[in-house]
Amino acid sequence: MSGRPLALQFHSSATRTDQLPESDAEVAFVGRSNVGKSSLINALANRKQLARVSNTPGRTQLINLFTLDSGGTVVDLPGYGFAKVPGHVRRDWGPMIEGYLLDREELVMIYVLVDGEIGPTKLDAQMLDWLRDNELPHTVVATKMDKVKSSKKRTRKRELADGCQLEVGDVVWVSSSKGGNIDQLRDLVRTHLS
Ligand code: GDP
Repeated sequence: MSGRPLALQFHSSATRTDQLPESDAEVAFVGRSNVGKSSLINALANRKQLARVSNTPGRTQLINLFTLDSGGTVVDLPGYGFAKVPGHVRRDWGPMIEGYLLDREELVMIYVLVDGEIGPTKLDAQMLDWLRDNELPHTVVATKMDKVKSSKKRTRKRELADGCQLEVGDVVWVSSSKGGNIDQLRDLVRTHLS
């Protein structure tokens, strides 16, 4: 059935790429902290606490893995741009995520979350440049669509796409709180993992 919730189960957390379990196919979600990543994973699964359960304090710098009943893994990468973490954590974070994104053979798609209300930040732009430079497959997902007024939507969509150096139609706009386009993203994840 099209658009039905993704039957995701929390599998485990890892701090290093070599700790990750075997997987047939994998998709990853990245974005700066507060972009709405946990809310989106919960919305995709239609579960209120799925991503938050694993994001207990002190585990936020971990790679969290969720398995899909039909096969495949959804990976929740730590949010970038932590203001509060100590310097050494921030220094370790980059290489860990970069290592994962570059080396993980099973990784078929990286969803880069950008806040639909505020548009791409400098860190988002850097992430996109880096993904392009390394020719890694990625899709930009704009979050919090419900926060953009109807009268501003057209302009906002154009601005956000421009800021990401993409065409308007390349960006998937979603609202986790109102359910907007969540069905579409579920189908996309299923397609990538099948
Ligand atoms: P994370 O740090 O990326 O995991 O972000 P969260 O999922 O914790 O969301 C950060 C904040 O944005 C929270 O206050 C959420 O309630 C809010 N938020 C997330 N998604 C949406 C959305 O689709 N619409 C609105 N209006 N707020 C959202």
